[in-house]
Parts: sequence; C-alpha cells; structure tokens
Amino acid sequence: MRILVVEDEKKVASFVKKGLEEDYYSVDVALDGKEGSRLAFSDEYDLIIMDIMLPYKDGISILKDLRKEKITTPVLMLTAKDDISDKVLGLDSGADDYLPKPFAFDELLARVRALLRRNNSEKNVILKVDDLQIDTQLHKAFRKETEIFLTPKEYSILEYLMRNKNHVISRVKLSEHVYDYHFDSDTNVIDVYINKLRNKIDKGFDKPMLQTVRGIGYMLKEN
Ligand code: CA
Repeated sequence: MRILVVEDEKKVASFVKKGLEEDYYSVDVALDGKEGSRLAFSDEYDLIIMDIMLPYKDGISILKDLRKEKITTPVLMLTAKDDISDKVLGLDSGADDYLPKPFAFDELLARVRALLRRNNSEKNVILKVDDLQIDTQLHKAFRKETEIFLTPKEYSILEYLMRNKNHVISRVKLSEHVYDYHFDSDTNVIDVYINKLRNKIDKGFDKPMLQTVRGIGYMLKEN
C-alpha cells in the first residue's frame, strides 16, 4: 500500500512517514501544496494524508481539484486546531476523514487502516500468486502453509511485485516504491533486499518465483 503525506511541518511529516513505514506502508512526502498536488494527481496512491494549511496551495483546494477530476483516492485531512469550520469544510470538499493536530500516532494508524479497509472492501485483501499469498491487511506472507516472516521493506517489495505479477519491474521503479521519490537510486540496495526476499520465499520450494531479468529488473512469475 502506498501513501502520500502532504505536510509542510517537516517534523510531523517525517514522524508520520517513519511510523507508517514501520507498519509496512510505502510513503512519499510532499512538503508543500504544489508538490503535493502534483503527486496526488499521479493517482498512484492508496491513501493521501494531507494538512490543510500548506504553502502555495492549501489542502482543501487540492482536494477539491482531485474530486473534480474524479480522483477518488481516500483523503485523511489534518488540521492544526480542532477547528469545526475546517472540519466541515474538509468533509464538504470530499475528505474521507479528519484528524486534528496534535495527534497520537496510534490514532492516525487506526484511521489509516479503517480508510484503507473501507476502500479495499471490494478489492481482494488476499493476494495470491501460485502458492504464495499475502494478507494485505495483516501484512503477513505465506508460501504453501508456511508463514514467511518479512521485514517491512521486504514485505513492501513483495506486495508490489505481486500486484504487478508477470511484469518486469525495473530497479529504479522498485526503489521509488520502497523508498520515496527523493531517493537517489543507489539501486544496489534493492538487489540486497531482493536477495533476502528470494531466500525467504524461494529457498526450499520447488519452483522459484522471483526472477531476475538481466539488465532490467525483477519479476514475480506465475508458473
Ligand atoms: Ca501546515
């Protein structure tokens, strides 16, 4: 699951990013409304967490523009004070939920989970490729009946590869997904993660699933 955080307070942004990544999400951060809007319109996110007061373009305007363009990514609005008018404005503009700052991270996480659950109720929570399967809600992976214990980054790579099964994913694309778009692609790091992941999901099983496509990237292949 990929989340966009649009928040100009660097401390809050990095605290949210760090916490969400520890909980197996992939997170991009935009520190102003212009960048936030650009990324939000890429429509590559499962959820957007957005502050209202932002430089260049405020959160409510971004949200209105998104909804006008029929981009329905769930949006959780943050606001500085427990200001009722902000709340009403946010919900009227098409926000899915609202959280006043300061907030406890657990509270944010609970809202994030609820929104993703609501949005994914029709999509499959369980992703399956051959005998490999993951529970995208509980962030658990299994091959046959065996649970495979993955780190947050390994899980994030696996989920991404499973969602794009049978397609070659470049290392740059993978590093963008696992890190954020500011990451200068020292893609060797990706190779390290892939090797660890391969050891966990393929070692000891008959058919290897994680394939290296020389010079291009990686692919999770359905047999
Ligand atoms: Ca702000």
